[in-house]
Amino acid sequence: MTESSARFEVEGVSISPDHYINGVRVASAVSFEDRSPLDWSRVLGHMARGNAETADAALSAADAAFPAWATLSCEARGEYLHRLAVLIDERVEEIARIECLDMAMLEESLKLRVIPRGARNFRAYADLAIAYQARTWSSNNTDNRVLRMPAGPAVIITPWNAPFMLSTWKCAPALAAGNTVILKPAEWSPLTASILADLIDEAGFPPGVFNIVQGIGEEIGAPLVADARARRVSFTGSPETGRLIAKAAAQNLSPFTAELGGKSPLIVFADADIDAAAKKAAGQYDDAGQVCLAGTRLLVESSVRDTFLDKFLAYTKAHVLGDSRSSDTTVSPLIHMDHLARVDAFVQRAKTNGDRVMIGGRIWREEGLWYEPTLIEPVSNESEIVQNEVFGPVLTLQTFDSEEEAITLANSTAYGLAGMCYTSDAARAERVGFAVRAGTVWVNCFLIRDLTAPFGGTGISGIGREGGDFALDFHSDLKTLQILQDSVT
Ligand code: NAD
Repeated sequence: MTESSARFEVEGVSISPDHYINGVRVASAVSFEDRSPLDWSRVLGHMARGNAETADAALSAADAAFPAWATLSCEARGEYLHRLAVLIDERVEEIARIECLDMAMLEESLKLRVIPRGARNFRAYADLAIAYQARTWSSNNTDNRVLRMPAGPAVIITPWNAPFMLSTWKCAPALAAGNTVILKPAEWSPLTASILADLIDEAGFPPGVFNIVQGIGEEIGAPLVADARARRVSFTGSPETGRLIAKAAAQNLSPFTAELGGKSPLIVFADADIDAAAKKAAGQYDDAGQVCLAGTRLLVESSVRDTFLDKFLAYTKAHVLGDSRSSDTTVSPLIHMDHLARVDAFVQRAKTNGDRVMIGGRIWREEGLWYEPTLIEPVSNESEIVQNEVFGPVLTLQTFDSEEEAITLANSTAYGLAGMCYTSDAARAERVGFAVRAGTVWVNCFLIRDLTAPFGGTGISGIGREGGDFALDFHSDLKTLQILQDSVT
């Protein structure tokens, strides 16, 4: 590994292909190609392909930087986080442009909502860490205090969807809690993490506090999470990778948290505002369905099925597939050629299984990575298309005749990330909210997030909770300090 000043340009934005370790850019001997899903023939750049040696360098840097960072006050650490937030805000347009090219999320939504949330993540955690008060109490003639001790280097591994926002969401609490960080973004959308590294440098973080490495999961992610110096492992991605990382973290008894896939139900009762429910259901095709929280299983009360379906189809037909940079577009292409093939294979297997494709079910244009918004009526609740996450614009439609049946269907997969319920009955909203097995249940709404609320999944959708104090707790070793009363002056 050698220090590097290499840069390449994408639409006027200068990007480093290299890792950011101990406050400097370092190259790898080999690279990987990064293409744009908006135009699959377009290579955006070649990024450094890290390996075990890179992982070792990043862990050494984070380990060495840890004691000084951990002993800074929350206020002092918060100043760095606030500076970073300001720098992100100043570059929202550029980051949105690059992320749009790199993973095809709609540029307007990136600009208005998703990238600014990255800055909010740092601000929120800088402030939350200060506001979090240690618990103190007296008992058995002792004064008791709960101290929140920084834990050590945190390894953070993130997926390719909404990569900037998701990475900042996970790095901010680690840094605010006093841990040093090594972030490994996904290899399918690595560019905005490299811009983040430039901003970390500009914000003046001490070397080694916040490191970013690039590469393929098995080659650099695996050695990072298997290393005993990683005192926290925080992962977002698929359940399959989650299992591998959990095993590696377990070898070192490193606390591990995982936000994994979903197959969330969107339940529509006959007493609901059917138009609002149908509109939101058609909205699950946004971002080409590449949203972990998406309500991909539409569960509709039989008596309103036809009314719901008419409205749903009308809203779905209004979707515009196209270039994610255009403000008219509502459905973007999928992230990668391999992912397009994976999504299509799910639909073809469903057809073979006898599930009925009601709309869509095809690649939209041979030369692109778009997939038609697809609705499938399964032959049974056991169909693969109902039970497994597709992570594309593919929804299923099932009906129910009672609240009990709706809940049984809602809870009938191995996942448990989120649930949506449309009803006008307050008592039903409570009952269903309690009964649906999920980390988050939204009633008559979707995707509204309070950053202080816990976030995560049950079942194979995840382990542990992030968000608010929950993430600060995860990134800390809680210590009880007990001092015998009147024994010290
Ligand atoms: P993935 O599991 O394939 O990869 C995620 C990350 O893990 C990547 O950075 C990858 O390089 C890395 N990785 C792969 N193998 C590794 C290994 N052996 N050791 C260490 N790291 C390794 O997931 P993906 O395809 O990038 O993302 C899609 C998945 O993420 C979907 O299942 C989606 O639902 C889920 N997701 C969940 C949430 C949530 O908050 N629950 C949010 C976004 C995405």
